[in-house]
Amino acid sequence: MSSIWVLGAGQLGAMLKQAANPLGLDVKPVDIETDETLPLQADDIVTAEREDWPETAATKQLAAHPNFVNLETFPQLADRLTQKQWIDKLDLATAPWFPVEDDSTAEKAYQTLGDRVLMKRRRGGYDGRGQYWLKQAEGTEIPEEWKGQAIAEQAINFDEEVSVVGVRGKNGEKYFYPLTLNLHINGILYASISPLQRLEHLQEQAEDMLGKLMDALDYVGVMAMECFRCGDELLINELAPRVHNSGHWTQAGASVNQFENHIRAVAGLPLAPAEVKNQSMMVNLIGVDVDYNWLSIKGLELYWYRKDVRPGRKVGHLNACSGDLDQLQSILKSLSTMPAPYDEALAWLAKNLP
Ligand code: ATP
Ligand code: MG
Ligand code: MG
Repeated sequence: MSSIWVLGAGQLGAMLKQAANPLGLDVKPVDIETDETLPLQADDIVTAEREDWPETAATKQLAAHPNFVNLETFPQLADRLTQKQWIDKLDLATAPWFPVEDDSTAEKAYQTLGDRVLMKRRRGGYDGRGQYWLKQAEGTEIPEEWKGQAIAEQAINFDEEVSVVGVRGKNGEKYFYPLTLNLHINGILYASISPLQRLEHLQEQAEDMLGKLMDALDYVGVMAMECFRCGDELLINELAPRVHNSGHWTQAGASVNQFENHIRAVAGLPLAPAEVKNQSMMVNLIGVDVDYNWLSIKGLELYWYRKDVRPGRKVGHLNACSGDLDQLQSILKSLSTMPAPYDEALAWLAKNLP
């Protein structure tokens, strides 16, 4: 069979490759800085582990391939301005916003969006980088370098953050994982739990929203939708046209994980609803070194990305899935020596597990 090339060689590319291995499919993550000539064949398939990329020798070769799945969609979702326009066009709920233009003022932001406004850079932001708060009480102004480069969003007083991961095939069939409850600390995802019975009544709403977007974009593969839950209403925070951190629990918790589903979809292979096995939880490893003693904790699964450890950098994750909730609680206790803010993240998991 043909090869599947992945634009990007980070952890998502590595996990796509890992998931495709049992299917006998050859997945080749590409470091975007490589200057090699890639041996792309006419019947190969190209996908991406990131929605935004610079023009390099490698990305130019990949983008020129006729089988680059969703090629036109990436720039539309990578720019928060056009992403928000898509959400508005489809009449889906999202945080009220406006584009930050050259003549935009903080005063206008406070008038139209309220006394706390979050500016987000249109491109390249992740893990809460590329955000800037405007606070009327502090008289914050819009810095010059943000004009024309950002959107401004109303601060949402959400109850909690949830996400849904879906997959769409070439023939338009769609499947979704159950909603995931997420904890972000300082804009970065620390922990996830899924499934949760108390979120089940929102599942249809989430599927309708993400399904509408995937259909409108004629999208093929896995897409994630991050939402704010405000009572029984979901507001879209942002979309990710790729496998997503909040779906990592599916590696332990679903018969077909998000990575395999993405590969199946872009390769045109059959999709089927994934069986969700049991209660899952995921802990991101952020700025902490690997501790192989974790392997002695029953039921815990380690993914280490082989990246240099730096403060605030995602370097791995831990998954656990069990029908025995006491076992999950006991795993959390075993992790209690992790440094701050893990005390907060572990307590959040302990509290939110059923
Ligand atoms: P990611 O790593 O998920 O791609 P990102 O840098 O693209 O993150 P967002 O997801 O837009 O950024 O925001 C990061 C976090 O900041 C959110 O998960 C949420 O906790 C908080 N946040 C974002 N937008 C708002 C808002 N309008 N009101 C309140 N909090 C917000
Ligand atoms: Mg983002
Ligand atoms: Mg986000």
